[in-house]
Amino acid sequence: MKILVINAGSSSLKYQLIDMTSHDVMAKGLCERIGIDGSNLQHTNVGKGTKTKIEKPMKDHGDAIQMVIDALVDGEIGVIASMDEIGAVGHRVVHGAEEFADSCIITEAVMKALEKCTPLAPLHNPPNIIGIEACTKIMPNVPQVAVFDTAFHQTMPPKAYMYALPYECYEQDRIRKYGFHGTSHKYVAGEAAKVLGKKPEELKIVTCHLGNGSSITAVDGGKCVDTSMGFTPLDGVPMGTRTGSMDPAVVTYLVNKGMSAKEVDNLMNKKSGVQGVSGVSSDFRDLTAAAEEGNERAKLALDMFAYQVKKYIGSYAAAMGGIDAVVFTAGVGENDAQTRAAIVDGLEFMGIKIDPEKNAARGTVDISAADAAVKTLVIPTNEELMIAIDTCRLVEG
Ligand code: AMP
Repeated sequence: MKILVINAGSSSLKYQLIDMTSHDVMAKGLCERIGIDGSNLQHTNVGKGTKTKIEKPMKDHGDAIQMVIDALVDGEIGVIASMDEIGAVGHRVVHGAEEFADSCIITEAVMKALEKCTPLAPLHNPPNIIGIEACTKIMPNVPQVAVFDTAFHQTMPPKAYMYALPYECYEQDRIRKYGFHGTSHKYVAGEAAKVLGKKPEELKIVTCHLGNGSSITAVDGGKCVDTSMGFTPLDGVPMGTRTGSMDPAVVTYLVNKGMSAKEVDNLMNKKSGVQGVSGVSSDFRDLTAAAEEGNERAKLALDMFAYQVKKYIGSYAAAMGGIDAVVFTAGVGENDAQTRAAIVDGLEFMGIKIDPEKNAARGTVDISAADAAVKTLVIPTNEELMIAIDTCRLVEG
């Protein structure tokens, strides 16, 4: 079966067509500036290794999906003869709240439930829903599946996901920890079990998805038992431009000083994190370069990041009553050997120790020192493949 994976944003749409026999990506691409002047499609035919940019107005996501289909079936740049070869479409959906603990086949009832989740992710869920509606119009007979960023975290016990606010905040306003990046955490935890030659049920793993947004998850027996992102993706460790956790009284302090709620929200989401502390960049490559040139604030930002990730690893080992493996993934986790080394530095007491030479390697690699009791792995994430696997599982029943 061939699965089309769609990740629709407010003005962009990423896609991959994946062959489920080989798990190979046949084609992939990106529609940019949907509904804005200068819309374009960037399409890669992976087999031929050709990249094509098509500039054409796309007034909405429907136009974008139609352009994607046209590119996929095109005699020159395409990879399939007709739309009928697409067995199913898998959509990334950011928020499934408590309605969705697993991916699911899209029906009218599911669409209604999705609308109910929108207030919890007002920026992200609407474009996801529009993407689904556009596919329904263009491919009415092709089954579609929604794969949620939050679903993997629905196995957390209440003691992990509840905030110590009045209980009504949970009951009436659904305020609780949801967690994000679930598709990535699920994928790398599964891959880690394969690398270690164990069943997921036998393992206690801390997965560290460290990118522009970062989250850490405790995976006990293949199930999420805690995660660092919360009600929103602002919680947890400092990120590119997001604060991560801090005393919530800072918010009321700033509001009392005269900032609006919107301004504080913007400050915490867009102007904070390693960018805010360093004043240099949100990109770890720039930060490392600046720190090496003696920039103290860039060094501080990197130190703060590594320190907080380290604390999560320790606290999740405590939460699970043990730890078999630490997994690093995403932009920073996969590529930044220095940050990985800084994170695990000092964790030898709990059996975590890496080999500096192995740590310099790329791809899926076991970077643990020979005498380490706990394995440390680098596993490239592949959210699109995870979405395709879930889609295939549900459609084939
Ligand atoms: P992601 O959100 O997973 O796409 O990760 C993006 C982030 O990964 C960038 O902002 C960088 O901070 C980081 N990154 C990517 N490549 C490298 C690299 N080679 N070394 C250090 N950091 C990197």
